[in-house]
Amino acid sequence: MADYDIAVAGAGAVGVCTALWAQMRGHRVLLADPNPPGSGTSYGNACTLATYACLPVNDPSVLTALPQLMFSRDSPLSLSYAHALRNPRWMLSFLANCRAAPSRRISAHLAELLSHADAGINPLIEAAGAQDLVVERGQLSVWSTAAAAEAATAGLERRRSLGVPWRELAPDEALEMEPGLRLPVKRAVHFHAARHLRDPLDFITRMHQAFTALGGTTLTAAVEAVSASDSGVALQAEGQSLTAGHAVIASGAFSGRITGAGTEQLPLGTERGYHLMFRDEAQRVTRPVGWSEAGFYAVPHAQGLRLTGTVEIAALDAPANPRRLAYLARKGAEMLGALPEPDSEWLGFRPTIPDSLPVIGRSPQSDRVIHAFGHQHIGLTLGGITGRLVADLAEGRQPNIDLAPYAADRAYA
Ligand SMILES: Cc1cc2nc3c(=O)[nH]c(=O)nc-3n(C[C@H](O)[C@H](O)[C@H](O)COP(=O)(O)OP(=O)(O)OC[C@H]3O[C@@H](n4cnc5c(N)ncnc54)[C@H](O)[C@@H]3O)c2cc1C
Repeated sequence: MADYDIAVAGAGAVGVCTALWAQMRGHRVLLADPNPPGSGTSYGNACTLATYACLPVNDPSVLTALPQLMFSRDSPLSLSYAHALRNPRWMLSFLANCRAAPSRRISAHLAELLSHADAGINPLIEAAGAQDLVVERGQLSVWSTAAAAEAATAGLERRRSLGVPWRELAPDEALEMEPGLRLPVKRAVHFHAARHLRDPLDFITRMHQAFTALGGTTLTAAVEAVSASDSGVALQAEGQSLTAGHAVIASGAFSGRITGAGTEQLPLGTERGYHLMFRDEAQRVTRPVGWSEAGFYAVPHAQGLRLTGTVEIAALDAPANPRRLAYLARKGAEMLGALPEPDSEWLGFRPTIPDSLPVIGRSPQSDRVIHAFGHQHIGLTLGGITGRLVADLAEGRQPNIDLAPYAADRAYA
């Protein structure tokens, strides 16, 4: 008999949700990570259960605005040319997916997963006793120029057609909801069904505690290699050998580094993102507020105001880019008025496949290895449903979502 029924590599939002779902279903689960649960990209995000976020970064507007987006000091998107040249496959595929037809197809597949997000995460919130961390005030998106406000219409209509509810607000109404805003609001939309977490790390820590209380095992080590046979999977983790019925690869942007998992050849890249924390400024906003043209959110986190977002396409091991942090500080002051020096800053790695869809499903090499990574901008939101789908797959149950669009062997562009 194998040491464990299911071994999960990676204790971010996706891995911990997966481990807890599997443990709640009565399996013997091992969760392996060299770092503390929730301390990776899942730590520093915009805290939003963003059930409305079905529009991928891959959008035709990126193609037309590319030179301006990349060269302007005020751009929410930046690109390392050296990195792009070293990764032409990822880059070309990402751009090909910005065309209108793929972009529409991706939105539909993201909307399908997002429509199950609450059903996937609510049982975990309950199991973790984390109801006090969940705030039901929706998300507010604002546009500060007439041109961008007008250009947003197509995307908002696409969301509506995919079942995402939103309400148009008059600028005065938006400023009444968020009196701390100092922007000239030209358009405002309230995604009222969205929720946010006061502190994603606290949430993941509590899920991990629930996992442990149910009998789950944690190993503080990196999984280096997996080797599947008909009867199970052997895992190598920093000198230790373990066996499991199934192995789940949920190591976020690092998932391609585990050998033998069928992940090495997949086009997994990263969209790097940043945050700044201002300890005593949490009251500046009362819900996550996204300044759409600027590509970042102001979020009322339990530890202070968090300005977070932007996209930087660069290597996993490149140092943090001070220009990106300066951008957040400058635009944050434009959005909310003068701010003190930040108390801390952070760089994180969104795991991104160039078609902005996650990989959820059995490895093409072996049914014993299950992939669960690539959740780009919405892994906190989709962790719960991913965990439930993975548990279904490990049990041989038919999931209630068609997983073909998220399969590892799909066409990427
Ligand atoms: C600026 C920013 C804002 C965001 N805002 C939101 C938001 O508001 N809402 C939302 O839903 N999403 C948001 N996201 C996206 C979200 O944070 C990610 O999609 C999510 O954190 C990915 O979770 P993960 O578990 O896949 O990866 P991670 O959280 O990175 O976890 C991966 C884990 O795997 C571990 N690991 C690595 N290699 C190995 C190995 N070999 N063996 C074992 N373990 C390993 C790492 O130590 C890490 O703990 C945001 C992201 C950024 C950067």
